[in-house]
Amino acid sequence: MSKNHSKFFKKKHLNLSLICLILIASLLYLTIPSSAIQDDFKKSLPPLQKHSLPVSLSKWHEQSYSGDYFNQIKQTLDGYLIWSNFPIKIYLDRPSNPNESSASTRRFNQWVNAIEKAIDDWNNYLPMTEVAQPDTADIIIKRANPPLGTTVDPETGKLQIPRARSAQTRYEFYIKNERLFHKMQIQISPGLGDLSILSAARHELGHALGIWGHSLEKTDALYFSQVANPPKISARDINTLKKVYEQPTRLGWSLPNQ
Ligand SMILES: [Zn+2]
Repeated sequence: MSKNHSKFFKKKHLNLSLICLILIASLLYLTIPSSAIQDDFKKSLPPLQKHSLPVSLSKWHEQSYSGDYFNQIKQTLDGYLIWSNFPIKIYLDRPSNPNESSASTRRFNQWVNAIEKAIDDWNNYLPMTEVAQPDTADIIIKRANPPLGTTVDPETGKLQIPRARSAQTRYEFYIKNERLFHKMQIQISPGLGDLSILSAARHELGHALGIWGHSLEKTDALYFSQVANPPKISARDINTLKKVYEQPTRLGWSLPNQ
């Protein structure tokens, strides 16, 4: 590896680690109950309950258990971010005319192909289907640069501005028919190479499907940083996903009678 390359990787690694730290910090901020207000708020939400395990995950058994990183997964006020209506509806950006031969459409088609491959990979474990309209989707995947978020360095108190983000996943909650649901939005940069789009999509889809945390092992798709050889979905990723789906959540359940 040349000096320039190692410098690049070092920089990139630092940058991505920073993003992951920011994610973890904001997760903690969002997830730690801190006051009586939150207790009151929780009473207005559906009680924590378990959904039955999706068939595809209940079939998943490893002969010799390779471990998991469930202890790295964060809960929200609404419990674990678990889907309960299958197939999960996905909307992804597509070029308006995919058969057009311009370089920009070709690049857009490559982006779509990589996203479709990542969806196929996860589809073995949780069923998903593509929908034509974003407003009917559970997970929206946008071909866009994630916003540059500024955060405060907890040690120095100084503002930190990350150089660039290549991908990001956010969630929001909503109520429909007196039930609590969530929606995910993934943004994946158009400027990435094919392999990076695929690994970013695999990683972010893992978050969107409920793995709201990071692995500390380089061989897992949900490893906290980008690596030179992006891993496929590992048995540990699925062991973790399965454990998440065995947990109680407020999502998908009815609001209490007031
Ligand atoms: Zn991540």
